[in-house]
Amino acid sequence: MGKIEHIEGIHYQTQRPIRLTFDGEWITGMEEQEHISSSLMIAPGLVDLQVNGFQGVDFNEPGLTVDEVVSCTRRLWENGVTTFFPTLITASEAALSDAIKKIVQACQDPVIARTIAGIHLEGPFISKDAGPRGAHPLKYVQAPNWGLVSRLQKVAKGKIKLVTLSPEHDQTNEVIKKCVAEQIHVAIGHTAAKTDQLGKAVEVGADLSTHLGNAAHLSLPRHPNYIWDQLALDGLWTSMISDGFHLPDAVMKVFMRVKPDKTFLVSDSTKFAGQPAGSYQSPIGGTVRLSPGGRLCMQDNPNLLAGSAASLKSCLEYLARAKLASLPQAIDMASIRPLSYLAKGKKIKAFQKGSRADVVLFEYKDHKMVIHRAIKSGRQVYSSEI
Ligand SMILES: [Zn+2]
Repeated sequence: MGKIEHIEGIHYQTQRPIRLTFDGEWITGMEEQEHISSSLMIAPGLVDLQVNGFQGVDFNEPGLTVDEVVSCTRRLWENGVTTFFPTLITASEAALSDAIKKIVQACQDPVIARTIAGIHLEGPFISKDAGPRGAHPLKYVQAPNWGLVSRLQKVAKGKIKLVTLSPEHDQTNEVIKKCVAEQIHVAIGHTAAKTDQLGKAVEVGADLSTHLGNAAHLSLPRHPNYIWDQLALDGLWTSMISDGFHLPDAVMKVFMRVKPDKTFLVSDSTKFAGQPAGSYQSPIGGTVRLSPGGRLCMQDNPNLLAGSAASLKSCLEYLARAKLASLPQAIDMASIRPLSYLAKGKKIKAFQKGSRADVVLFEYKDHKMVIHRAIKSGRQVYSSEI
């Protein structure tokens, strides 16, 4: 993993040739050039705050190993992701704790540690209702419990940065306040909460809707309902799985119009991302089926999706292909936008001086972003030429 001092490419927004200079882990400057040696496009590294697994590795699978965490991180680099949150869904405390330990051990490597910028705990404090609960196992669903969060956070050495919960439980608001005081973002998701519960959760610090529009009842009252309510709460950012299966284009268009600066993409990918079509045993609730087109659903109930088999890169490609965003806008929604969310809304510009030297060089061919190089904190972590 060689250190890089400067890199040239075509700016993904302006289409102008540029040279970026780095000092160690940081970007120190960006200059336009007359002539450059590369014809590749250059963009900020992708940021995925919801990764259950990727290409054969699942963070939720019992017996997860440190090597699997490392190899999964490498596969994500190849796909342009330079920052991500491994995401653990509803499970027993022992299972969550085991997975966290392996992730923390993998972070002994400093480049892996910077790539795994946090852990996303998606559950177990979610709704018990079928529908909102999605594929999470009912057995381990429980009301929010600060004791559990703080015990897991100790195991995680402070690495839990995001907790998705449902505010329909009594103890929710106290737990949200404590999370926020400990610099843990709180998202609302897998919820059947009522209008006042959602409003109160935002008042005390919840700031994101996790994959809004998914993990919901198949039928909802026309209004009020928790999708309208969350859209109307200005304090909430929205994450969205734009793989072409989780949400119809019209719904994504509306989310992006209602929250133009607060919508970002997540893959919600599972170990089945990048795998051939077929039936598989999933750590997330039994047998699942992956269609040739990439739709991942429960075998017994094909109406229920079982996470996604898409990479973040393919999600942003979908958004651009469906003309819901330009390519630069879609890239922003999968890179600097989630970073801005983590920075509590601070505006972040691409290639900003003083920001982390996380970039990707790519070609855009046939509506696909073909990654040639990925650089994390000034180090080359992937090259298609090697
Ligand atoms: Zn989910």
